[in-house]
Amino acid sequence: MAPYLLKAGGLFYKNLKRLRVEQRTLARRYKKGVKIAEQSKGYHKQRLRVAKLHEKISNQRNDFLHKVSTKLVSQYDSIIVEDLNVKGMLKNDKLSKAIGDVSWTKFNTFLQYKCECYGKNYIQIGRFEPSSKMCNHCGHINKELKLKDRVWTCQECQRTNDRDFNGALNIKSFGLGTPPKIHNVSR
Ligand SMILES: [Zn+2]
Repeated sequence: MAPYLLKAGGLFYKNLKRLRVEQRTLARRYKKGVKIAEQSKGYHKQRLRVAKLHEKISNQRNDFLHKVSTKLVSQYDSIIVEDLNVKGMLKNDKLSKAIGDVSWTKFNTFLQYKCECYGKNYIQIGRFEPSSKMCNHCGHINKELKLKDRVWTCQECQRTNDRDFNGALNIKSFGLGTPPKIHNVSR
């Protein structure tokens, strides 16, 4: 396990930051109107450096995804995931970095085939199940919930819900076919 890879300031993000710097240097060395083959020696040297860094980052990302998916599949009998609209989410600036950086689609692919290999259950719930907005305790749907709301109090049962934890409980409920009873949907 290498969760430190995904922490801000961790090795992975350090390399991402370095990549941006190296790419800027590359752009500076690029002479407009000159064919790639005829660019300067310095440009080609930098191009190689950027390519190597790209490969390093890609390997680190794959390593991380493999370690986490193997650990999850060996630890649990069933894995339930939300069918996120990744393309739609990538259009959202704030989400795109987080999701793009951890390659959500690839991670799901790893989980799925490893579940098959180890004889575990891989369950995907529908994209339109209200996983975040529904209170897992009483089934009330909080239509006012915004992406920035990390913690919210249910108007119906007064329970304080952590956005991600409540969402995860709902994904589990839907995946196992026991969603919380929806009521007061008109609110
Ligand atoms: Zn509630």
